[in-house]
Amino acid sequence: MKAQNRVFYLNVILACNNKCLFCLSPSTYNGIEGLMCVEDVNNIIKSYNIDYGDRVIINGGEPMLHPNIEEILIAFKETSAELVMYSNGVFLKYDKNIEILKKSSVNRITIPLHGDINTHNFITYSNSFNSTIESINKLLNIKDSTLNVELKFILNDYYIKNNISINKLIKNNIDYSKLKNLVIAGLVENSISRKNGVTISWNKMGKYLSEEILLIKNNMPNLLIKFEDIAFCKMSEFYQRDIKERYNPTLNKSFGEFYVFDYKHKRGRNISYKEDFCILKGSDCYCDYFKFCSSIMKNYCVLCDDGKNIYRDME
Ligand code: SF4
Ligand code: SF4
Repeated sequence: MKAQNRVFYLNVILACNNKCLFCLSPSTYNGIEGLMCVEDVNNIIKSYNIDYGDRVIINGGEPMLHPNIEEILIAFKETSAELVMYSNGVFLKYDKNIEILKKSSVNRITIPLHGDINTHNFITYSNSFNSTIESINKLLNIKDSTLNVELKFILNDYYIKNNISINKLIKNNIDYSKLKNLVIAGLVENSISRKNGVTISWNKMGKYLSEEILLIKNNMPNLLIKFEDIAFCKMSEFYQRDIKERYNPTLNKSFGEFYVFDYKHKRGRNISYKEDFCILKGSDCYCDYFKFCSSIMKNYCVLCDDGKNIYRDME
């Protein structure tokens, strides 16, 4: 019998036009290039019988740089799988790329924003801010579209240093009446982020978020907020109590298997993680929040706050 809710994560290209100060893509700091070809993608669809109930994530590098991205996206049209693309958004302002999205069956695009113009350009080591914003607004305004444009904020130390408010950033730049989803993620420390000085302490992150979430909720009450890699014990007591009161385990979703593919691993590495995981203490944690405060790094879960309920979902 076919497993339900499998996740297929396709790293279709390693190259990227940005050079983010925390990027772990092998091409960004080590110059390793690699592409999946359309034939590989078609083989994956066939051999895993990808279909309804599955989720496919197209990632990179920057997927829009792939010379055959149109064929890759279209290949999933027949499958009825949920199709998600992670993109830095820079190239999605072009009409020809919007047409590709319209022709394909992409359900969601997740695009990161790293602060105001100076901060975003500093973090991405490029002049990408204006293009990214233009793309987001164009995508939000595609006529009769059901595409879900999701913004992602990966908290790093420059949010604090440069006094960046997510709430203001959205209100000043984005056509937020059309926005449905927001992801707020903690920047998980790695060797690159440490070397480039962008890591943030859990205490600073918790204080920042406790204030910012109230602002976002007051100003944009209909937004679904997803939390990734956030240590909830560092948030204000007020929000911790609120989370406990609104936590609704009956809404929780889970998934069966998680396969990763790239130009080298065409058979897919199954990296399914079943256990819950505390970002501070690992699997061996007895904290009250453990059942819902878990890290995507380990089990691909996010905590969702839709204004009424708090529940766990697949990222
Ligand atoms: S946009 Fe993504 S792939 Fe590109 S440099 Fe930044 S983190 Fe890396
Ligand atoms: S599970 Fe870990 S990170 Fe989450 S609240 Fe508990 S101790 Fe903190």
